[in-house]
Amino acid sequence: LVSREHHPERSVIEVGGVPIGPGFLTVIAGPCAVETPEQTLAAARLARAAGATLLRGGAYKPRTSPYAFQGLGEEGLKILADVRAETGMPVVTEVVDAHDVELVADYADMLQIGTRNMQNFALLRAVGAASRPVLLKRGMNATIKEWLMAAEYIAQRGNLDIVLCERGIRTFETATRNTLDVSAVPVVHRLSHLPVIVDPSHSGGHRDLVLPLARAAVAAGAEGLIIDVHPDPAIALCDGDQALSGDDVEKVAELTASLGALM
Ligand code: PEP
Repeated sequence: LVSREHHPERSVIEVGGVPIGPGFLTVIAGPCAVETPEQTLAAARLARAAGATLLRGGAYKPRTSPYAFQGLGEEGLKILADVRAETGMPVVTEVVDAHDVELVADYADMLQIGTRNMQNFALLRAVGAASRPVLLKRGMNATIKEWLMAAEYIAQRGNLDIVLCERGIRTFETATRNTLDVSAVPVVHRLSHLPVIVDPSHSGGHRDLVLPLARAAVAAGAEGLIIDVHPDPAIALCDGDQALSGDDVEKVAELTASLGALM
């Protein structure tokens, strides 16, 4: 269902009226985790300044350590909905449990499946039955074929509104958090009609790498970017090292304005 053999024309997916797909360079930005109403609203304003039209923010955080901040849950979803009402930005947020899909869909405009859950087949089936578009991140250890098969699980349930997100894979390199597989973008374009966006924040794991990786992603044909921003990265409860703030945010806006004009 997600292959170009089945559907030769490349797809455009709409999220709360915002298109993602060929001809667009859609920026999704926001905090890694929703922490407080004030922090989320400030991050949404930074996201707008970065040229974003969609707001990201995690209310359910799948963390490596069980002692790390796990997210605010439904309280975080309510904050996101309030910030959407204030800014008009549709919300993209992660769901980590099949039982929570309906709850998250009540608040969100797009359901994100994180790298750790790319092969959580019960969760994929559940979002496949939901009436929201899905952002499917590539598993950090997944081949492109496995990633597309994960998308197939969602599509098989009737939901073809899927956007794929390359977010870096595990390699022997330790200088970056993950290795951004830029080649995945043109390979997926050859194999699938689904749009592909790139997460330069989670792949590099450091703010200095966000702009270079974003440039590489767009040069390779990515139709969008998902970027972490935070009003005060030094006190972020999650992944502060990769969050952009201040001047860096304007650089993203310049980059996307200049590259968006070429799309
Ligand atoms: C995220 O985008 O908040 C996230 C946790 O990303 P990933 O699943 O790619 O690690």
